[in-house]
Amino acid sequence: MKKLSVVVPCFNEEEVLPIFYKELKHHLKKLAHITSEIIFVDDGSSDNTLHILKDLHKKDSSVKYISFSRNFGKEAAILCGLKNSNWGDYIVVMDADLQDPPKILKDMLHAIENEGYDTVATRRITRKGEPFLRSFFATCFYYLLNLISPIKIVPGARDYRMMTRQMKDAVIGLTEYNRFTKGIYSWVGFKTKWLIYENVQRPKGKTKWSFFKLFAYSMEGITAFSTVPLAFSSILGLFFCIMSFLGIIIVIARVFIWDNSAYGWPSLVCFLFFISGIQLFCIGILGQYLSKTYMETKRRPLYIVKQSEGVKTYEENIRKQK
Ligand code: UDP
Ligand code: MG
Repeated sequence: MKKLSVVVPCFNEEEVLPIFYKELKHHLKKLAHITSEIIFVDDGSSDNTLHILKDLHKKDSSVKYISFSRNFGKEAAILCGLKNSNWGDYIVVMDADLQDPPKILKDMLHAIENEGYDTVATRRITRKGEPFLRSFFATCFYYLLNLISPIKIVPGARDYRMMTRQMKDAVIGLTEYNRFTKGIYSWVGFKTKWLIYENVQRPKGKTKWSFFKLFAYSMEGITAFSTVPLAFSSILGLFFCIMSFLGIIIVIARVFIWDNSAYGWPSLVCFLFFISGIQLFCIGILGQYLSKTYMETKRRPLYIVKQSEGVKTYEENIRKQK
């Protein structure tokens, strides 16, 4: 019998967790030739999430949980889940809010077991029900990222994905601090099948992503997978050098032809402001990369586990080996 580990990051999901568990179990039972475990990663929830997880673990030994000492973010929760899912031959990461429909688990498994794929990823074809501005900026972000980054990310890609243990090991082998998992999946390669589905609304609870959180996340994606913005400042610098050189020639020519070069200072001020703005913008880009490098060099752990049940955590295992 093959084994499937389901990794579920959850942050303040008390309302939706019981419904999610029921629905997921229902679909897992349908996978006749598979035994499964569910690893919930509680990302420092401040509501009743952890209690619910403890109850579920008591009732059902295939439910395991790991709980963080504070909220470290979804990326950290996914990494922790993947690190602790070595039991499974296949690993699937899904949200706790039923926006990642468990009914397609069957198709995912089929693609990996019978069609020779290493991973099955998902994407939404619509963003129905999402605020217009959010969809608009998300579309712009994917367009920009794909334009300037060597790796390609499919627009509307979700974190909902099933993969083989081999691919999971490759993903956790990338130990960077600034994680952008969608980019990492694309970076590690492997044969990928894409499944599509319509956007599903959360049955309960609220989204944890504010506009600014998403903006910071998109910056993470760009700086983690492209250094084109850094080249952008050099190109702009070169452009302005050429422009100023042409300007100097025009000014000198003007002195010789019309014998007057003192007019035009308002336009000069505008130019000065414009170019200073661009300079500051470019220093800002440098700053972004510098700050990311700074965080990388600190080598801080991405998350701290406070308690867990059912799993020997990855960190405990490493400590034992030493
Ligand atoms: N999540 C998390 N840590 C966070 C934010 C979210 O573990 O800091 C989890 C959340 O509980 C859910 C998943 O990530 O299972 C997706 O979050 P959400 O539904 O809020 O995002 P959206 O679907 O709106 O993009
Ligand atoms: Mg959601």
